[in-house]
Amino acid sequence: MVFDGTRLHDDTLAVRAGFERSNFGEHAEPIMTTSSYVFASAAEAAARFSGENEGLIYSRFTNPTVQTFERRLAAMEDMPAAIGTASGMAATAMLMLGSLRQGERVVATRNMFGSTVNLFRNFLPRLGIEVDWVDGFDPERWADACQQGTRYLYLETPTNPLTEVADIAALADVAHANGAELVVDNCFCTPVLQKPGAFGADIVIHSATKYLDGQGRCVGGAIVGSEALIKELTAFMRSAGPCMSPFNAWVFTKGLETLGLRMQRHCDNAATLASWLSTRAGIKAVNYPGLASHPQHALAARQQRAPGGILSFTVEGGQAGAWNVIDHVNLCSITGNLGDSRTTITHPSTTTHGRMSAEDRAIAGIEDDLVRVAVGLEHIDDLIADLDQAISAARS
Ligand SMILES: *Cc1c(COP(=O)(O)O)cnc(C)c1O
Repeated sequence: MVFDGTRLHDDTLAVRAGFERSNFGEHAEPIMTTSSYVFASAAEAAARFSGENEGLIYSRFTNPTVQTFERRLAAMEDMPAAIGTASGMAATAMLMLGSLRQGERVVATRNMFGSTVNLFRNFLPRLGIEVDWVDGFDPERWADACQQGTRYLYLETPTNPLTEVADIAALADVAHANGAELVVDNCFCTPVLQKPGAFGADIVIHSATKYLDGQGRCVGGAIVGSEALIKELTAFMRSAGPCMSPFNAWVFTKGLETLGLRMQRHCDNAATLASWLSTRAGIKAVNYPGLASHPQHALAARQQRAPGGILSFTVEGGQAGAWNVIDHVNLCSITGNLGDSRTTITHPSTTTHGRMSAEDRAIAGIEDDLVRVAVGLEHIDDLIADLDQAISAARS
């Protein structure tokens, strides 16, 4: 969205971009709950269905409320177009099924959201789409993994739950040198903290379920990319149907309005909690890109506007020690979700990453003594007090 020749700031796009007011002149974005649209005549219906005339046909693939969300998210990512999906996983699955062909390949790491690993491991190969797995983010290894037919390099940064940071620009170069495209799952950072497209990524995936909603209400996702890609995927959406509901799109659109403010607080709270944890007795190590001890601290500072709202830490006593801390929290919610106004605490190896094979988990470095905290919007003193008493109780 451009005004007098300059790109508007994110804060402005977040509250203004993408909304086209109806004839009622409403100020706020309404929810358009209709499955279909009427046509002035049979000829007009035919012209719309054939694509000769533009316009709405059916909400499986075009709905004004969903379009508002799509345009606003694309504007915030500074990329041409977006398509909303039923969930974050539907976004990844739809990108793969809607744009790849048998014999094409994907390069990825195991350090990803568990369901993404399962999709790549258990389902894509059945359809003749092979995944070449790389450990870590060394661009040379990614280049070595590229071969005839490689279409996508796929990554998350920072990773869940270890917060490893990948060099997007370096891996975009590897992708392009090999005739492939870089796909980045930007769920942890959101466009407020990181715009992968600015570093050369071609496609951005979102789980809107997380920070874009921000209050743990709805499941949804999005793919952001070129006009041509989104057109291709809209055709797939029309045939396959994993669409976002208008109500969820409205929740996410309103979520985008406050995303910048919320991310600021998530990051401030997480930074304070990470430094406190790193000196707390009973904590072995803390993973958070904002800590000077983080292996990619400098890269994160270049690539992200702030280190993010998620951290993880290891405790003494293995899985029992980790479960003990989790079982003693009073305030934090024991749940697998993240990006919520309420702080959540999770044991990744037995929940979010529990369906990965033990071998994949070991290679990804997700040990049994690891605890993940997605830091919410509560007052930081209350969060520290809660974890402090939980860690003490777990150790006694
Ligand atoms: C949750 C999550 C997903 C999947 O999103 P859903 O909306 O739950 O389907 C994908 N990637 C990351 C990094 C996630 O945290």
